[in-house]
Amino acid sequence: MLNMPDEKLRMPVVFFGHGNPMNALLETPYSAAWWEIGISVPKPKAILMVSAHWTTRGTAVTAMESPRTIHDFGGFPQALFEVQYPAPGSPALAERVRDLLAPVEVGLDDSWGLDHGTWSVLVHAFPKADVPVVQLSIDAIQPPEFHYALGKRLAPLRDEGVLIVGSGNVVHNLGILNWAPGAAPFDWAVRFNDRVRDLLTQHDHASLIAYSSMGQDARLSVPTPEHYLPLLYIIAMHEKCEPIDFAVDGIELGSAGMLSLVIG
Ligand code: ZN
Repeated sequence: MLNMPDEKLRMPVVFFGHGNPMNALLETPYSAAWWEIGISVPKPKAILMVSAHWTTRGTAVTAMESPRTIHDFGGFPQALFEVQYPAPGSPALAERVRDLLAPVEVGLDDSWGLDHGTWSVLVHAFPKADVPVVQLSIDAIQPPEFHYALGKRLAPLRDEGVLIVGSGNVVHNLGILNWAPGAAPFDWAVRFNDRVRDLLTQHDHASLIAYSSMGQDARLSVPTPEHYLPLLYIIAMHEKCEPIDFAVDGIELGSAGMLSLVIG
């Protein structure tokens, strides 16, 4: 049998709905799905992560050799504060990201690290912590179109063995979380989540970028943009011919959307 000519490997792109940081420690349908994603994708040379939990003025990228594990929350059990995710950084990837995003200025950061938006999912998806991880910050003063445009410029990394990952939540209203066990989702959360899924399937990116025009359901589901915006980086790289797989979904605590997806 003749060998097929080598095809360039294009990495998929992934969005994780991370939700409650305790998912880092627990076996849940979500953490199980994140593990499945980790073993289903080609082993990446590096991971570029856009986490909801690193918002900045201007855009920055972590450029240190050994990023620290940041425990950026309060009121959780000590065991969660003891989680370490000792993946190396990649100053080379940080430089590459800076070049790709020019003329947008990208600061090379040596003070952040890996926040829980990153490690709470990667402890399941890549438990060995042996793949270098770089975080890209979210410029909090820029509109959704800006973030979508940055995502498009990152696309060449998919052909360089880099797994580009967003970590946030499609629905994320921290102010009205319901911590009662088995809390039912709010109606508006279900409606907004379903609408986003439909738009993702239809490849209707204009509507996803203009989410704030989707009325009261959107206002309640996305009261602040930082958990939604990582999704825009990921869908910006969705070629129309590529499949989208909704790996897991659900609304936890009434208003935390857990949709995770793989494109490509
Ligand atoms: Zn979060």
